[in-house]
Amino acid sequence: MTAQGYVALTPDSLPGRLGALSVLRDRVGPSDSWHVREVGDGNLNLVFIVTGSAGQAVVKQALPYVRLVGESWPLPLKRSFFEYNALIRQEARDPGSVPAVWHFDEAQAIVVMEFLAPHVILRQALIAGRRVTGLGQRLGQFCARTLFRGSDLSMTAAARKADLALFAGNVELCDITENLVFSDPYFDAPMNRHTPGLEGIVARLRADLSLKVAAQHLKLAFTSRAETMLHGDLHTGSIMVTDTEAKVIDPEFATYGPIGFDVGMLIANFLMAHFSQPGHEATPGDRAGQQDWLLSVVETIWQVFVAEFSHLWRTERRGILYQASLYEDQGHGLAAEQALADLLGRIWADTLGFCGIEMHRRILGLAHNADFERIEDEGRRAACEARALAMGRQLMLGAGALPGIGTVTAMARRMDKEDHL
Ligand code: ADP
Ligand code: MG
Repeated sequence: MTAQGYVALTPDSLPGRLGALSVLRDRVGPSDSWHVREVGDGNLNLVFIVTGSAGQAVVKQALPYVRLVGESWPLPLKRSFFEYNALIRQEARDPGSVPAVWHFDEAQAIVVMEFLAPHVILRQALIAGRRVTGLGQRLGQFCARTLFRGSDLSMTAAARKADLALFAGNVELCDITENLVFSDPYFDAPMNRHTPGLEGIVARLRADLSLKVAAQHLKLAFTSRAETMLHGDLHTGSIMVTDTEAKVIDPEFATYGPIGFDVGMLIANFLMAHFSQPGHEATPGDRAGQQDWLLSVVETIWQVFVAEFSHLWRTERRGILYQASLYEDQGHGLAAEQALADLLGRIWADTLGFCGIEMHRRILGLAHNADFERIEDEGRRAACEARALAMGRQLMLGAGALPGIGTVTAMARRMDKEDHL
């Protein structure tokens, strides 16, 4: 127990501790009917599935340390507070995009939420070769709506500044991003690991001085450009899907940062899924259709993001930036369109930069992707990963100069056929 009375839940203690919560009694049934199972595939937290006579719920509790590593890496319970605050804002900004939150206990670092069923983690579905109807559309909308509506383009100055202050407290999780994403991949940091066989390309990347500079420019953008509330960890392991639906989970890394961060990280994870597919082939070429689909999702995410962001710009631009009083009300609607195009151009450049760096850190850093990790043959895995590393470099160095998303997917298609080991 901590000074504040925090105690980690166990499957045995959970019914006694949470059985009196009316929301759980109503949604799940009386606690004597509960069966509790710990999911245990999370990296950081405890996640329990509670099944009762009336239904199911998820109980997520932060631990005072990183679960994956153990008590030697302390991490504040407060991340649960940021996750809760991000979830309720995402629900307000894009209704239905996240699991419904039913209860929050700050001292115990517990969020009680809707159990998503029959959803599975998107990353697992992609590895299995499954597709999700409407996926790019849904994720593009999610990005546009949450990123636009969490910014000074939409919020009142007071609300936005209050949220900026609130999420500025998420210091330790930002610190993880700042180190693991933006710095560790580019030197021999203690927690790094990579697949044997990548030594040559890893040495080339770490000796690439322009790349090191680009990485720190991106880090500066992340730490200083508080444009909007980010999910902060928007990868395919933070998305749960059925064949036709997608929901976003796990926003404990939420912070204010550049709009392109979430979009770039998301696209990077689809590009890595693409490059990993040959490693999951049963017969040569049997994942080609899946690869085409993954790249079509990348294109749709960006196109829908642009379309929805533009729609919100034209219909909901009520914040302190680019006011209509300055443009439309003066008969200068064209200037508003020009400003939108400029802004989207900047977001595009940021997106590609963050996309590239995410592809590096997932192969060179601490937190790897199952897409690659599940490829048992190390030689095959290294060949797939090397292509992703090479593309990540191109994106970081060429960010902004690439004319459109079709160029990016064409590059992915071409590099998939090249040898970068
Ligand atoms: P962590 O922050 O520790 O990584 P996650 O929020 O990613 O934890 O949750 C870990 C796992 O628990 C997920 O991969 C998913 O399988 C399951 N899970 C989490 N939230 C839900 C939910 N609302 N409905 C169903 N399963 C969930
Ligand atoms: Mg998490």
